[in-house]
Amino acid sequence: MSGPKESAASLLEVHDLSVHFGEAQRARWSWWHTERSLLRAVDGVSLSVGKGEIVGLVGESGSGKTTLGRAILGMYPIAGGEVLFAGSDVSRMSRNDRRLLRRRMQMIPQDAAASLSPRFSVSQLLTEAYDISGTAPAARKPTSELLSMVELGHEHANKYPHELSGGQARRVSIARALAMGPDFIVADEPTAGLDVSAVATIVNLLMRLRTDLGLSYLVITHDLQVVAYLADVIAVMYLGKIVEIGRAEDIIDSPKHPYTRSLLHSISGRAAAERAMFELKGEVPNPLTPPSGCRFHPRCSFARPLCRTQEPLRTECGKNHETACHFWNKIEATLDPANGRINSKENTP
Ligand code: SF4
Repeated sequence: MSGPKESAASLLEVHDLSVHFGEAQRARWSWWHTERSLLRAVDGVSLSVGKGEIVGLVGESGSGKTTLGRAILGMYPIAGGEVLFAGSDVSRMSRNDRRLLRRRMQMIPQDAAASLSPRFSVSQLLTEAYDISGTAPAARKPTSELLSMVELGHEHANKYPHELSGGQARRVSIARALAMGPDFIVADEPTAGLDVSAVATIVNLLMRLRTDLGLSYLVITHDLQVVAYLADVIAVMYLGKIVEIGRAEDIIDSPKHPYTRSLLHSISGRAAAERAMFELKGEVPNPLTPPSGCRFHPRCSFARPLCRTQEPLRTECGKNHETACHFWNKIEATLDPANGRINSKENTP
């Protein structure tokens, strides 16, 4: 593979990435309909994942999280920007290089149970992962070893997906990803639909695998409790854009963007006044016709005329902490850090 040398710290770098859907209609439909039907699912996203780092990607359904994860893995064509993995531009690779790279970049799919073919036993599902990738027999790990990596006994090898619990199906999905010997995994809602004890098992398993194998993850989730525990860095996505990114503890303890505050408002420990102020109102707007200016303005209690006309850029709001809000510092000044109450009406932006 060609490209610049692999950075010592960064395994994955995404620069200004855009993924659009709907352009195929251009040839069939009139130009004005095409403009209206172009869906900018991911719109100018930048982030990086270091070696052995866990980046959590949070946001409501429809924010573009899964599309971003799939585009990084080359499963969707990109409309702009670049994805550098180990220093090489994924979008400019030959098909063969990209096929080889896919071993190093794996996905744990959303709804693991549905992604496992009901016709195959666990053993066959693990073999299938090797068959699809064309892995030589000598390079294949035995089924028992893969099962043991995800803390499942060999007795599960002959079971079929319908005989597995939700947590066991999730672990089989993880084993399929591990079969390729990856460095980087996109885990799409790895704990969705699981009970509390299964969530803890999966989270601890992912962390142990990170330590044992030096894995890096992009964990896509709507569960802030999970990401607060699991991630080193949290990126908050809204309607195709990252509106806040920073170290996990800074995002959880000192969020700057009103949307991040809204997502966090339900987590215990937030003052009642702050919870009321940042309660999320309404639904995510239609991504085909996103709001002008700041895309969050129709739902933001702090929106001002500028927010409706000018898109806020991501700017530094702390050490390794960026947010895209015109008024993040003024909003912060309205809250008393001691109790989360509004300090003074004059301070509102
Ligand atoms: Fe709210 Fe304006 Fe900040 Fe957007 S830019 S989050 S609308 S205050």
